[in-house]
Amino acid sequence: MQVTVVGAGVVGLTAAVALTEAGHDVRVIARATGDATTSAVAGAIWLPFEVGPADAVIRWATRTRVWLEELARSIPAAGVDVLEVVHAEAADAPPPFWAAAVPAVQRVTAPFPGAPAAYGFRAPRVDPRLHLPWLTAQLARPIEIADVARLTALPGDAVVNATGLGARALAGDDSLAARYGQVRVTAPGALDLGVTLSDDRDPDAMFYVIPRAARAGFAAEVVIGGCALPRPDHDPLAVDAAIDARIARQAQALDRAPGALVRTRAGLRPWRPTVRLERDPDDPRVIHDYGHGGGGYTLARGCAEDVVALLA
Ligand SMILES: Cc1cc2nc3c(=O)[nH]c(=O)nc-3n(C[C@H](O)[C@H](O)[C@H](O)COP(=O)(O)OP(=O)(O)OC[C@H]3O[C@@H](n4cnc5c(N)ncnc54)[C@H](O)[C@@H]3O)c2cc1C
Repeated sequence: MQVTVVGAGVVGLTAAVALTEAGHDVRVIARATGDATTSAVAGAIWLPFEVGPADAVIRWATRTRVWLEELARSIPAAGVDVLEVVHAEAADAPPPFWAAAVPAVQRVTAPFPGAPAAYGFRAPRVDPRLHLPWLTAQLARPIEIADVARLTALPGDAVVNATGLGARALAGDDSLAARYGQVRVTAPGALDLGVTLSDDRDPDAMFYVIPRAARAGFAAEVVIGGCALPRPDHDPLAVDAAIDARIARQAQALDRAPGALVRTRAGLRPWRPTVRLERDPDDPRVIHDYGHGGGGYTLARGCAEDVVALLA
């Protein structure tokens, strides 16, 4: 089949790769690619955050974890490896719903300053600096840069809508909303490059430390965040100095200090109460795959395989 994928973030590219593997003739169109996408700003650890519905998230996240782990074992150029994640929870909290998507979670006491308790597990981390170019390199054709105004006007047997926040206008979907995220990227300093720390109990002051190894010409760095705040999706992505100072303070309170600041970045997560993955009821040629909130890297491959299944 001839399939047009609109969107070249992690969701669109992963769908395009899965469709290509399944033997379809795939064309990708996007307004922006690489560093100009939300996907380039992400941490990007495997960890379901602000995504639903729970049952489908467990299935998509499990499938994506297994696929990413296979990439980590077999294809270094894909920019994936597996590390320890320490995820803060209240002292008496049960494991999060998505714990069903990892083989083993263990209770951790006094995990890091400010976190009373945590769950620990091993999961993939993705380096977008390598992963987005690697996905792009798996495509049979170069990405076409264009702004799509109407999905139904596109040629092909099927059209996959993987436009993230852009789907609000393209699909007329008002349930899609921006969740602002901000990070400071530093040199490793004394931070442990083998462990991710995560505390998303308070979306106004969430905190995470995601290290990235040095490879393929990229220096080791650590992504320190963050927040998940409602914002109009046309807001300029200016970094907020007060949020940056708060993140820096939280990082300095750790036992091991981060290194020098390399850059700050901001992005808008495409949040929706549930991911939309279905054929459009008005034009079944269109398959929607958007609304991955804070979990695009965590769900992309599982969702991509469902897109392939819808075309079977
Ligand atoms: C600070 C931060 C940290 C994050 N950390 C993590 C993490 O650790 N783990 C994780 O799993 N997720 C994380 N996320 C979330 C993750 O980044 C998103 O879920 C993911 O990037 C969404 O991918 P996407 O492909 O749907 O959207 P995008 O990356 O936004 O891509 C959308 C694509 O559609 C194109 N497009 C839009 N409209 C049109 C149009 N009309 N015509 C043509 N093209 C169009 C865009 O140009 C772009 O190519 C984080 C996000 C932020 C901001």
